[in-house]
Amino acid sequence: EERDIICAGCGVKVQSTDKSELGYAPASALERDVIICQRCFRLKHYNEVQDVKLTDDDFLKILNTLGNTNSLIVKIVDIFDFNGSWLPGLHRFVGNNDVLLVGNKVDLLPKSLNPNKLVNWMKRSSKELGLKPIDVMLISAEKGHGVLDVANRIEELRKGKDVYVVGCTNVGKSTFINRIIKEFGGDEEQLITTSHFPGTTLDMIDIPLDDGSALYDTPGIINHHQIAHYIDKKELKTITPKKEIKSMVFQLNEEQTLYFGGLARFDYVEGERGSFVCYFSNEINIHRTKLEKADELYQNHLGELLSPPGPETKENLPELVKHEFYIKEKSDIVYSGLGWVSIHQENVRVQAYAPKGVGVTIRPALI
Ligand code: GDP
Repeated sequence: EERDIICAGCGVKVQSTDKSELGYAPASALERDVIICQRCFRLKHYNEVQDVKLTDDDFLKILNTLGNTNSLIVKIVDIFDFNGSWLPGLHRFVGNNDVLLVGNKVDLLPKSLNPNKLVNWMKRSSKELGLKPIDVMLISAEKGHGVLDVANRIEELRKGKDVYVVGCTNVGKSTFINRIIKEFGGDEEQLITTSHFPGTTLDMIDIPLDDGSALYDTPGIINHHQIAHYIDKKELKTITPKKEIKSMVFQLNEEQTLYFGGLARFDYVEGERGSFVCYFSNEINIHRTKLEKADELYQNHLGELLSPPGPETKENLPELVKHEFYIKEKSDIVYSGLGWVSIHQENVRVQAYAPKGVGVTIRPALI
């Protein structure tokens, strides 16, 4: 008798007949205790990004499904990777449904950062990106901070409707869902099941709510612009802060450069000597050099002195792209998924580099 094997990574049905189809895993992999499909395996171990077409196609189908529902949509973003985890396009599909925006990983932020400033910035950015959330809340899914408040707010906002939780991979959606299950799904008799998205092979987890509605956890969508996809798991650990980030202050003269590992670069192009406050994972190595030597240093030392990436993953890293900024007021230059540099001088000129596709944005200084 055949039973479906489900990928422990993404939840698709595992098959070992067609390599090009979703859920493929070689027969040998089916012997393991924990079975994951090749797509998830590659992503995990070889830093190889999934077939774009397939993912985006399924993503579109999921978005269409959401648009046809009468529901509350809870969208989770990683506040450390706001742009990278945004899910562009979602706003065109939500229809008349309300969106509750939840920023996760608030435990990583420096205590000196005022959460209200962050929430206001998230509201403004959302509007610029075309979405007007009904509310914006901050949580730490891992520590449990704010999760109960979000659960209560969901209860208020859903007005008896179903709830869909969406977010791209790595925002902490599973961590959040597991906490929510404890808050909502207290009743042991209610079984958590999975349902199919129409027209896709992707499953969503279906958590019954006590009035007959359900909370659906949709698959984490891979966003190819996240820096997480260009490095391996170990390197991701290095760049991902694990606890409250501590700032590092650099006194810079004009024409000086900072490298954040080999993943990002900051040039102080023009202005008086001043301090630049860097907010990155405490484990990321910051290297200072002269602007005129910066290109050469990168050419010769990417993958060693300037790492992550390592000697192998540097091959996958897209070229660094330059973003120029004229700073009129105290601002943060934000490298999506990495951190930010806070500039307290006014009327200075800077440049920021990040791998092609990785967002670099400017915002009024949060601290
Ligand atoms: P998913 O892919 O969106 O389901 O994300 P996961 O729940 O698997 O979490 C992705 C990563 O983020 C894991 O390494 C988690 O430990 C981490 N993470 C999740 N929530 C938090 C949080 O509130 N704070 C911090 N610092 N890390 C978190």
